[in-house]
Amino acid sequence: MPELPEVETIRRDLDREFVGRKVKTVEVSRLRSIRRHKNTKDFAGRLEGRKITGVVRKGKYILIRLDDGGVLVAHLGMSGQLLRASPKDPKERHTQVVISFSQGGQLRFVDPRTFGEMFVTTPDRLEAQVHELAHLGFDPIDQVMSWTHFAEMLYARKTRLKPLLTDQKFIAGIGNIYADEILFAAGLRFDRSSETLTAQEVRRLYRAMTETLQDAIKHRGSSLADEQYRDLFGETGDFQSLHKVYDREGKACPRCRSLITRVKANGRSAYFCPQCQV
Ligand SMILES: [Zn+2]
Repeated sequence: MPELPEVETIRRDLDREFVGRKVKTVEVSRLRSIRRHKNTKDFAGRLEGRKITGVVRKGKYILIRLDDGGVLVAHLGMSGQLLRASPKDPKERHTQVVISFSQGGQLRFVDPRTFGEMFVTTPDRLEAQVHELAHLGFDPIDQVMSWTHFAEMLYARKTRLKPLLTDQKFIAGIGNIYADEILFAAGLRFDRSSETLTAQEVRRLYRAMTETLQDAIKHRGSSLADEQYRDLFGETGDFQSLHKVYDREGKACPRCRSLITRVKANGRSAYFCPQCQV
């Protein structure tokens, strides 16, 4: 599932490629992908003739701003891809939505598993429509937090670190992959309880979080073998080659050569180095 670095990579490319373009036509092949709308006409009618003015991100949601004050929301779900295409390009399987622009070019939404979606709304209705966005935690890329405030948040929650880092109400945008990589970089175990961290560990965790995410964005995200993540140009990211623990069970820790261990906790795997993480 795409996490903050993948969604942010796509957001930046969308902003560069599509701002200023005007929507000419909209085609929908699968109504499930626009399930908040009654029908294709209801969705297309709110897009056609509109110009894109900017692209922002809230957690794992992409918000494409329109010149009438509306916003086209895209959520990639498990397997969604937003792809820039030319009308001549052959349509990939599972292309659910095609937005064509007056200036030429298309934005295509490809989603084999259809957990993702697109819909048009207004900024004031967004939080009522997407409950998750009304309770979103702080954004580790867009917002800066003081270490003392971060420490207060950690101490107040008294929760194991991995479930806490992936709780969207606590911090927005972190999932399974980056939680494991951040905790390795911080030298902390997935099951360490958040109120037991020393001041130095809090600082290490905060720095590991921002550095790991920034680094992953620089490498255009992670594309795993069984995942669909592609950037706007259909290319894979390359941060997966820099993963230190995630999906590396039985391999040597890059720091101490101990074997990376995998444990199942709450139905999710956690990968970690039993030597380097305490
Ligand atoms: Zn190690």
